[in-house]
Amino acid sequence: MRAEAFKRHSEVIGEATSSPKERMSTMMNRKDFLKTGLAAGAFLGSSAYIAAAASGDQNQAASAEQDLEKYRFHPLHRFSNDELVTEREQQGRPHEGKVLAAIQPHSDDIPIFAGGLVAKLIREGYKGYLIRTTNDDSAGRGSTRAESILNDERDTEEVAKILGLEKVYNLNYRNHNIDEVNIKEITARFVFLIRMLKIDTIITYDPWAPYDNNPDHYITGRAVEAAYTGRWDYPEQLDAVEPHSVSERYYFTRRGPQYINRIVEITSHVDTKVRANMANVTQGPGGNSGSLLRRRLAEKGLKLPVLGDDDQTADFNYIKHIMLDLDSENLRLTPSDRKVGEPFGLEWAERYYYRGPIRSSLDEYIAKNAVRI
Ligand SMILES: [Zn+2]
Repeated sequence: MRAEAFKRHSEVIGEATSSPKERMSTMMNRKDFLKTGLAAGAFLGSSAYIAAAASGDQNQAASAEQDLEKYRFHPLHRFSNDELVTEREQQGRPHEGKVLAAIQPHSDDIPIFAGGLVAKLIREGYKGYLIRTTNDDSAGRGSTRAESILNDERDTEEVAKILGLEKVYNLNYRNHNIDEVNIKEITARFVFLIRMLKIDTIITYDPWAPYDNNPDHYITGRAVEAAYTGRWDYPEQLDAVEPHSVSERYYFTRRGPQYINRIVEITSHVDTKVRANMANVTQGPGGNSGSLLRRRLAEKGLKLPVLGDDDQTADFNYIKHIMLDLDSENLRLTPSDRKVGEPFGLEWAERYYYRGPIRSSLDEYIAKNAVRI
C-alpha cells in the first residue's frame, strides 16, 4: 500500500498529535466531524468518546479513547485496520504502470457515481478500461428497442473517451434481467478480463449494499467480488492468459446505508465528471436535461439564471449544480458531491468503501524480535 499517497483521516482530524491540549482539540474536531453523520459507520458505538470530547475532561477522554480502541477490535466491528481515509488529488503520475477497470451495468452508473475518481486516477497515471455488463435495452430514448441499445452503446463509448479510458467491453446481458444468468458465467468472464488486461484496481457497485432494487447493480458487484480468485481457478484460461489478481477495489452504492471508509477529492475533476454525464443523452439523468428544463421554463415565461443563455451552458450547469449538488438525492439517489466534501475541507468529493491490500505485521515483528541462533 502506498501510504504516502493518501492523507489518512486520522491526520485530517488531527489524531496524530501529542500534547494534552492538542489531543483535546482532536477530540473536539472529531466530535464536530461525528455531528455530520458521515462517520457514523466509522465510529459507531463510540458515544462515550463523544461525551468525553464534549465534556473537555482529559482523563475521561483518554479512557474513552481506550474504549474506542477496544471497540475497533470487537469481532462485530469492521476489520481492525479499516480506517476512514481521505484520498487527496496528487501531483505527477504516481499510479504509472497500474491498470483500472471501471465496471458498470448501465451506461450512466460510472459517470453518476465514480466519474470523478476515474478521471482522477487516469490523470495520476493509471491506464483504464470501461466494462458494461448489460446492453441497456430497456433504458432511454430510441424509436425501437434496438435503437435504444445503439444509442446507449454510443453514449458509453463517448463516456469512455471523456474519462480517458482505452476501450469499452460490453458484456451485453439483458437490461434489468442479469439475474436470469448463472453468476458463475459472469464471474468467469471477469476473471478472464482481469487476467487479460492485468487489472489492479476495480471501481464498481458495492456487492453487499442493501436496498438497491436493481439486480443489474448487485449481481454485477457480486460477480466482480467473486472474480477475486486464486491463481489456479479456471485453469483452461491459463493457456491464453497469465494468472492475475486485483489488489484494490473502490465500491460505491446508491440509496440505502453504505459502509464508507474513503473520501476521494475530485475538485479538479468535477468538470470532467460533468462532461461524462453530458454524454449520457439517451438515459440521463444528465445528458441534455438542462437545456430541456430551460426550454420548459421559457414556455412559461420563466428562466433560471444558473442555466445560462445557451443549451451547452444549461446542460453543463444543470449537471454540476443541480444533479451533482442541489437535487442530487432525488436525481442520483446519493448525497451531493459538494456536501460529501464539506466536512473534510474539500470542494467536491466522492465516497467509497475501499478494499485494499492488507498490511502484514509480521515483518515488523521479525525485525524487533528475531534473535541470532
Ligand atoms: Zn444502473
